[in-house]
Parts: sequence; structure tokens; C-alpha cells
Amino acid sequence: MQKQIFKNLLITALVIIVLTTGLMLIGVYSLVEERTVSNMKNEGALIAGTMNYYDDQGYIQSPDFHRINYRLTLIDKKGVVIYDNQVKNLENHSNRPEFIEAMKTGEGSEKRYSGTLEETTYYYAIKLADGTVLRLSDTQDSIFGIFLQIIPLLLGILLLVVVASYIIGRQTTKRFVKPIEQLTDHLDHYNSITLCGYEELVPFVNKINAQREEIKKQIGDLKRDRDTVRTITEHMTEGLIVLDQQKNILSVNHSAIRILEMKGGVFIGKNLIAATRNEIVNRCAERAIEEESVDDRISCHGRYYQIHGCSVRNMGVNIGAMLLLVDVTSEQTANDRRREFTANVSHELKTPLTSISGYAEMMLNGLVPAENTNEFIGKIYKECGRLIILVEDILTLSKLDESAQEEVWQIVNVYDVAKEVVDSLKGEAEKMKVGVKLSGIEQGAVINHASSTMISQLVYNLLSNGIKYNKKGGSVQVNVVDQEGVIKLSVEDTGIGIPESEKDRIFERFYRVDKSRSKNIGGTGLGLSIVKHIVKTIGGSIQLESTEGQGTTVTIAIKK
Ligand code: ADP
Repeated sequence: MQKQIFKNLLITALVIIVLTTGLMLIGVYSLVEERTVSNMKNEGALIAGTMNYYDDQGYIQSPDFHRINYRLTLIDKKGVVIYDNQVKNLENHSNRPEFIEAMKTGEGSEKRYSGTLEETTYYYAIKLADGTVLRLSDTQDSIFGIFLQIIPLLLGILLLVVVASYIIGRQTTKRFVKPIEQLTDHLDHYNSITLCGYEELVPFVNKINAQREEIKKQIGDLKRDRDTVRTITEHMTEGLIVLDQQKNILSVNHSAIRILEMKGGVFIGKNLIAATRNEIVNRCAERAIEEESVDDRISCHGRYYQIHGCSVRNMGVNIGAMLLLVDVTSEQTANDRRREFTANVSHELKTPLTSISGYAEMMLNGLVPAENTNEFIGKIYKECGRLIILVEDILTLSKLDESAQEEVWQIVNVYDVAKEVVDSLKGEAEKMKVGVKLSGIEQGAVINHASSTMISQLVYNLLSNGIKYNKKGGSVQVNVVDQEGVIKLSVEDTGIGIPESEKDRIFERFYRVDKSRSKNIGGTGLGLSIVKHIVKTIGGSIQLESTEGQGTTVTIAIKK
């Protein structure tokens, strides 16, 4: 502002100086010119009068005239210069305009400008009584010559003007700005002091205050909206990435950073390719930016994520894309498990069915001698038995898979259920020459939140394993105890044991340590999966201890 004021003042002053100087120069010059000519005319008339009176041409040649300020020239009728008080040997002057005019009208005047000398010479010629012409001439500086003379003065004035403009500009700026500065500090509560006579600013200040209030409100609203959106996105388990049209990240939540294992700290403004090298994610982003609706699946650090991508539009214009990463691991693993289970079931069912069909075909074609018929029928019967057990186990598992939520819970005495199972498997144990014992608390081994069918299946599978995978003359001990409100059912055998490397896998469906042995003794590979499922449904825990060649103890703990 100070600069502007200074500039304006300076320009104004310069214009004034130039105009004033110019006008003054013109005025003064014409005044001087007028005076010069009129003085010269008066002087000329006086001298001519005297010369006429005395009829004496020598009058002007007297020494008194040597001090006269004018140049005096006496010219005869033919233009020959008779006398000149300043220049000798002059050429004929008959062609001089002032001479011609004086010869014609009695007097003549002329002005001649010399560019070289920057001077103007004024001539006044008067015809004397004897016919000769007396010419007076005087020289003046031209207007430009006068201007050149006053340049130092002008420069001095100019300097003064610059200094004055600067000082005045500074003072004026201060005076102008001070109330505005005061107003800025007291914009909320301005008064007559802060306004300092600037009443014109009141509507302006009111407008600014209204706009400030509006902006404050809008910022508050925006902040609230932003916080809400941020809280939602940051608490989402799904990953969310918002991109602009160049695939630069506009927003990314913690879940997306975690899922895609993005490294580097600040991701906003970064290109997606710099934040994650995941090819599928990048391809999905590109397709979504091109306004395609995208769906794809990725696997990251052992989990599966479904990517949903779509373009983001604002007022009909595509401004980028949004990617949502949803964890679908449970769905994917359930699908995988179902697929694997179906494949296993088909395989397990196919084996006994193929045997049955083979035996039956041989008998049908008369390939089995009469004395072996019973043996073949026995084989078919055995395979049928295996099939029934297998189907029962599959049904049990699928029931557990599907109807756990609908189960009606009962109060179950674990000891009583175990006793029933032990009794039912006594024959089996005797066949295998394995002793079975039941011990523990008969009363009080009660679980409030269980199902007697499930507990029965659980004990059955554990006990039958203890018998099946035992040695001749071995034993199985079933024990039920109440330990600080937790019912513990343990099935301890003195059997073949489980190798350390297999312990984690035996609870998988259809997994068997020794497939042929298990099949021979009627195993399906589903017993422990059923146990695991039941324990999970009831809300208990399983502990397995086993030493190869010495025996196995499985302990189930269920809260009362
Ligand atoms: P299966 O019907 O084959 O017995 P399970 O799921 O009950 O299937 O058991 C899985 C595998 O674990 C068995 O095939 C067997 O190899 C092993 N196993 C289970 N219980 C015992 C045990 N008490 N002693 C030794 N091995 C066992």
C-alpha cells in the first residue's frame, strides 16, 4: 500500500512539475519576447527620431552608442550595410525580410531562430527620413535553451518531490492502515475507536463477520463429518481404499494397510502401485477407475479377501475408484472343507461299495466255490457294516455342522452316560482282549448345558479308539472327576500311542495314522473329528497326551 501511495504521489507531483514548468516556460518566454520586441521598437523609434532630427548618420557611430545593448545596423536603400556596431564587412541586406518590409511600410520586424546556438534573434527595421534603414537586433535564448538552463533547478525540485512523496506516502499509509489494523484485531467487537471514522467499512466488516461465522460453521460441520467418516472407516474390519483417476490414494483405512501389508508410513497422495505390489489389487483398481464394477479374490498371509471395486462419481463425472476388501476366509475355508469332505466321503463310500459289488459279481458269475460262499457273504456283511458306520458318522458330523444352534440343552450326568457306553462296548473290548474300567465320581458329575446324545457319542468314540488302538491284554481306563467346577473326563489306554508328528492332524476329518489298520478294525477317520466338534459345541477343551508304544490319554474338560 505504501509503495502504491508513494508511486501515485510521485506521478502526480511529476505531472504537476512537468505541466507547471512547461506552461511557465511558455508564459515567461512569450512575455520576455514581447518585452524584448517592444523595448527594441521604443529604442529604435527614439534613435530614428534623433537621427531624423539631426539628419546625422554618424549619430549612432558615436562612442556613446558602443555600450548600447542592441546590435545597430544602418543599411542604405540598396541594402548595402553602411554601419554595424558588432559585425564588420556584412553582405548586402536587401533580401532581409525586415528590410524589405521597412522599405515598403516604413518599419518591419522579423524573428530568426538559430538551431545551432539555441537562440532567437529579433530584428526591428525603421526607415529613416533620408531613405536609409536603421535596424536594431537583439538575441534571446530559445525556449529549449531556457529549459536547459533551469535543468539543475528542476532536478533539485524533483529530488525534493521524491523525498516529500516518500515521507507523505509513509505517513499517509500509516494513517490509513492503523484503523484497519485495529479493526483486524477487534473484528469481533469493533467500535467507533477501531473504526476511526471509517464508517464506510461497517457493511464490509459486517459482511466479513457474517462470512467468518458461516465459514466457522461449515468447518465445524466438515470436521464432524470427517471425524464420523474416519471413525467408521478406521473401525471397519473391511479394508477401504479410495483412489483418484491417476490411481493415487485419497484415503486408506488401517484394515487395508494391514491386509495388504503396506509399508512406508504416509500413503495419502502415493500411487497405489507404490503402496502395494499386489497385482490383482492394482488390476482391480485400474478396471474400477475405468468405470467397471470389479469383483475378485486375493489371498494374503493365509487369509482370503474378496475385492469389490467400483468407480466414484461426482456430479456425473468419474473422479476415481473405491476398493473394499472383505475377509472371506471362513467362507473360503468352509467351501474348501466342504469340497474336501465331499471328495473324501465319495472316496470312503466307494471303497466298501466296490468290494461289495466285486464279491457279489463273483458269486453271481459262479466264480466262488460253494464251500467259500459263506466267507464271501461274511466279507460283504463286514463291508456293509463298515458302510453303515461310515454313513452314521457322516450323518452325525453333518447334524453337528447344521443343527448345533437348534440343540436343546439338558442336564447331563457324565458318569452315567460313560457307564452306559462302557457297558455297550464291553463285548467289543473282550473281543480285542482289552480290559475296560470306569472310575470317578458317580454323583455330581453333572453338566448343566449339554446333550446326553453328544456326550454319549463323545465317550463312545474315545473309548472305542482306546480299545481299537490297543494291544492284546491292554487296558482302557475311563475316569470322571470334578475339578473346581470343571468336569474332566479322561480316557487312558495302554495302546499303540500316536507319533508326535501326527498329534495335530488326527482331529482332521478322515485322517488316520495307519489307514489300513484303521480300516481293518472298522475305523472311519471321523471319530475324533466328531469328538472335537462336540467339545466345541458344548464349550469345553481337549487335551491329548500320547507316547508311541505306551499309550494315549485324551482328557475332555467341560464347565459344569
Ligand atoms: P478312526 O475312525 O480311524 O479311529 P479317529 O478320528 O477316531 O478315526 O482317529 C483318527 C486316527 O487317530 C486313527 O485312525 C488312529 O490312527 C489315531 N488314534 C485315535 N485314537 C487313538 C488312540 N487311542 N491310540 C492310538 N491312535 C489313535
